[in-house]
Amino acid sequence: MIYFDNSATTKVLPEAAEAARRYMVEAYYNPAAAYSAAVQVERDVAQARANIAAKMNAEPAELTFTSCGTESNNTALYGSLRAMRGQGRVIVSAVEHPSVYEAALDLKERGYDVVFAGVDGTGAVRLDELEGLLTQETRLVSIMHVNNESGAVNDIDAVYALVKKRAPEALLHVDGVQAFMKEAPVRCDMYSVSGHKLHAPKGVGALYIRKGVRVKPYLIGGGQESGMRSGTTNAAGIMAFNAAVTDYALHGREYRENMLLVKKRLYSNLSRIRDVRLNGPAVDAGAAHILNMSFMGVRGEVLLNALSERGLCVSTGSACAAHKRGKNRILNAMGITGDRQDGAIRFSFSRFNTTAEADAAAQLIEEQVGYLRRFRRR
Ligand code: PLP
Repeated sequence: MIYFDNSATTKVLPEAAEAARRYMVEAYYNPAAAYSAAVQVERDVAQARANIAAKMNAEPAELTFTSCGTESNNTALYGSLRAMRGQGRVIVSAVEHPSVYEAALDLKERGYDVVFAGVDGTGAVRLDELEGLLTQETRLVSIMHVNNESGAVNDIDAVYALVKKRAPEALLHVDGVQAFMKEAPVRCDMYSVSGHKLHAPKGVGALYIRKGVRVKPYLIGGGQESGMRSGTTNAAGIMAFNAAVTDYALHGREYRENMLLVKKRLYSNLSRIRDVRLNGPAVDAGAAHILNMSFMGVRGEVLLNALSERGLCVSTGSACAAHKRGKNRILNAMGITGDRQDGAIRFSFSRFNTTAEADAAAQLIEEQVGYLRRFRRR
């Protein structure tokens, strides 16, 4: 089996699994309890918070643990707006993950003036267009750091400067789910991350909320996470997340180099097939772990199934998006339509992938694309 769908989720690192096991089976105490074994778990969680926050150039108090990237994104959007008086403009990019995009559509129904910032052909937000949308009434801007389908990396520091210049009252939220530990930290007011994209288990995420930014909690109850997110602390998930982040901090450069090597190898192998197109930034310019290519004359879903039967896992886009013909919202926004959209496949890599896998995968794809194209002509 060759797994090239690491933007959907990643294999859990053994050290992260071991940390989770330890806090489930041995140190399973509720960190809010008063006896010393529980207080120790509370201290461990505090240390994990400080460690993970530091990787975002943040203070521990600025980090709230959540259950996933979706919860972080929802909390950032709804929670910050609910803490403001009145309504106003909300700007999100046209290529946001559904946990931002669908939330924005919901906010529109609730009466907010929601507008969508367009992207260029690579999937990066057009700063000139964003500038034109920013008004004094803008309350919130949400722009993702790395696009999960094209691998485009937005210049968030430039976005931040623009937002603060044109709409000083507005907050900037950044969905960093595909970027955390893979790209350098950025300036923003809120930043969402998710553990399972970097070898921690599913079920743990975090939201950075800059000191002084007001966000109303989404979950109300026992007041955990300093009142920002009630619910018994997921110590096992948090400690596993911490182990994965610690590992990435130690070896991240090596992991990124490896992912880029695999990506470039797969790209150059696949470029030998006739009628293929790169969707997204130049191979060197985008995120090291995402490659999106179209195989003209082949339906992406058909190719995906053929590859899946032969042990290669890829994707035709975000696992959460609806993929009816011509309905890939992200590729549409990038101006990629028709045959090119239908034939698009996303490959996404992790530290565990190898160039030998890139060679084997390319050979399999070449065979299957050749076969499917012949079949189509008959
Ligand atoms: N944002 C982006 C860019 C993503 O790629 C994903 C997951 O695919 C999410 C948010 C949602 O994260 P989670 O699966 O942790 O809810």
